Amino acid sequence: MAQRFPLKPGSMIGVLGGGQLGRMLTLAAGRLGFDVTVLEPEPDSPASRVAARTLVAPYDDPEALKTLAATCDVVTFEFENVPAAVLHQLKTLGALAAPGRQPLAVAQDRVSEKDFFRENGIETADFYAVAGPGDIVSGLSRMGGRGLLKTRREGYDGKGQTWVEGASDADAAFQRIGAKPAILEARVPFVRELSVIAARGRTGEIACYPLGENWHEDGVLRRTVAPAEASESTREQAVAIARGALDALDYVGVIGVELFELANGDLLVNEFAPRVHNSGHWTLDGCEVDQFEQHVRAIAGWPLGKTDALAQVEMTNLLGDEADDWQALASEPNARVWLYGKREARPGRKMGHVNRLTPLV
Ligand code: AMP
Repeated sequence: MAQRFPLKPGSMIGVLGGGQLGRMLTLAAGRLGFDVTVLEPEPDSPASRVAARTLVAPYDDPEALKTLAATCDVVTFEFENVPAAVLHQLKTLGALAAPGRQPLAVAQDRVSEKDFFRENGIETADFYAVAGPGDIVSGLSRMGGRGLLKTRREGYDGKGQTWVEGASDADAAFQRIGAKPAILEARVPFVRELSVIAARGRTGEIACYPLGENWHEDGVLRRTVAPAEASESTREQAVAIARGALDALDYVGVIGVELFELANGDLLVNEFAPRVHNSGHWTLDGCEVDQFEQHVRAIAGWPLGKTDALAQVEMTNLLGDEADDWQALASEPNARVWLYGKREARPGRKMGHVNRLTPLV
């Protein structure tokens, strides 16, 4: 059989998920001469309007998966709640997925994710697996009476999470998250939230972007500033964490790792996303090769690109009707506006982002 990688321009890349990440991946793939087929359950998705082809079907639709496997040289995903079994089905059909099933499965369950980090010597908050209110009471007794309860699966942007303020709150807290299997985490007294975006290529080479510093509002990322000011030791820890996770997962593609910085500069991992990440959008205008192109390069078996920052960037998400200010934003001389083409601006919905650039000092 002819060698598949590096993929030649003109090859077809499959993307599971048609949101803004899929759209920006598709744009990057197009720049390198690739075509993209998107599989997305919703019609008229942001990615579908730039992709060569869209299959509108559930992620586990057998016909759609057959078509993807038959027509795509590699398949990736932009959405981490794609059922992990879908990647297994694709493999059975002869398709190659990157990242593979294991990173996706690990990231989908907060307990497996924390176990994975611990097994690989990467520090996290103290945690306790929760099947019911009794476990919350046991966990709280280890954590000084207060903890953050999160559903094990399908939580994102702060959804499915609640603070538990004491044993008397255990029953109510379990109900607040929908009475689902959960994880109780000790409160991390962080001074900052940072993230590192990194990539691993098909031959195991790794490239890390400079750190981003992140601000959230109501659980949703609002702003990233990058490169974040950080000590040499903090930066080294972040690279070691990213490298440790990427190697242990035998990962191919871009990963986003969310970190808590403690007062002494030590880092704990919060979670990882097995995909391009919102806190990496600054790279679109701040780096020689942005995270989307980097992901395409990695999964296509191309050399990874340079990750050095060319400018200081402040990335701000445009939520809900904030994107209506596109004219004013477009007239700011040092701003670059990215709009996702979503038809409806529901409150809090990510409609776009703006990167404001200043020269590096
Ligand atoms: P997550 O969905 O895990 O990314 O959590 C959303 C946000 O909740 C994070 O960005 C933090 O601001 C906060 N958070 C999550 N876990 C903890 C924790 N163990 N201690 C303190 N704050 C947390």
